[in-house]
Amino acid sequence: MTGSTPAPFTADDYRARMERAARAAADAGLAGLLVAPGPDMVWLTGYTPTAVTERLTVLVLTPGHDPVLVVPTLEAPDAEHATGASALSLRDWTDGKDPYAVTAALLDHSGRFGISDNTWAMHLLGLQRTLPGTSYASLTDALPMLRAVKDAAELELLAAAGAAADATFEEIRKVPFAGRRESDVGHDLADLLRRFGHSQVDFTIVGSGPNGANPHHEVGDRVIQHGDMVVLDFGGLKDGYGSDTTRTVHVGEPTEEERTVHDIVRAAQEAGFRAVRPGVACQEVDRAARAVITDAGYGEYFIHRTGHGIGVTTHEPPYMIEGEEQPLVPGMCFSVEPGIYLPGRFGVRIEDIVTVTEDGGRRLNNTTREMVIVD
Ligand code: ZN
Ligand code: ZN
Ligand code: ZN
Repeated sequence: MTGSTPAPFTADDYRARMERAARAAADAGLAGLLVAPGPDMVWLTGYTPTAVTERLTVLVLTPGHDPVLVVPTLEAPDAEHATGASALSLRDWTDGKDPYAVTAALLDHSGRFGISDNTWAMHLLGLQRTLPGTSYASLTDALPMLRAVKDAAELELLAAAGAAADATFEEIRKVPFAGRRESDVGHDLADLLRRFGHSQVDFTIVGSGPNGANPHHEVGDRVIQHGDMVVLDFGGLKDGYGSDTTRTVHVGEPTEEERTVHDIVRAAQEAGFRAVRPGVACQEVDRAARAVITDAGYGEYFIHRTGHGIGVTTHEPPYMIEGEEQPLVPGMCFSVEPGIYLPGRFGVRIEDIVTVTEDGGRRLNNTTREMVIVD
């Protein structure tokens, strides 16, 4: 994740995003937004510093003013090459100067600002020290839907990332599982994601047997056995946009119970997908998937939310969770990933990325959701 995003966006696209963000900030009662290097800055400007260091870099968006990027002088030439650079002005500061004073000159000294979640604490503390009259809100809390609705170009990139993840699954199902460690299969997954165009691998979960019952398990040294269920959950970034898919495979012939549990999760995933259409609250997607699992008697073993948004990161709003009343809007992209986790035994999860269309949902992952038998 270095250099400017290769996504096919123009300076006008970034200008429109920055204007939209500044308007949304004003609507939310904020005096502006302070955006640190990371996903928000990439999305708003196309700029990623080569390295994020202790030197302050911050994008300042204030309603009614042109966007300003505060950068260390030695990084200004890089920033000038970002695609969105012509839609903003640079304010550079040299070593020995106080970057917070430079930033403060751009801000309402008694305002409340939205600030990127990943801003370093030292920078927020520096701003608070310099401008004691200001206050701050997490940008994600203040504007959770800022990046949630994807445009046509973003949808194409997300679909391409999904197709690359699908190609990865089609290859991984052919490799030997029994007798190899989870970490070996995890390496295979990472290699395949890169081979199919990912520049960044975010996770390669290989949860075999009892490890599959722990949704946070990544990969370990456990040697995969004949008879194991294996949860495979993998994704990352391709051309700046995310993939994230899960399939649960079985080494050799499954038992009756393993088949039943897999069928229930598959039906739950289908029900969650079918619930997707414009105007439906996010929580309804969770309820639809959860109802299938609860009705089958496994409700206490579905121990996480049904889904999360995806875009320039692999986890972001909107969240498909009870209590989230945000209505679905065409262009939103998120996972539908119910699971059943039987402690000490095995787990099953099935996950697709889904986008909201005018009249329903469209899956960006299309490999079989039937249980695949591996060797
Ligand atoms: Zn088994
Ligand atoms: Zn996943
Ligand atoms: Zn996911």
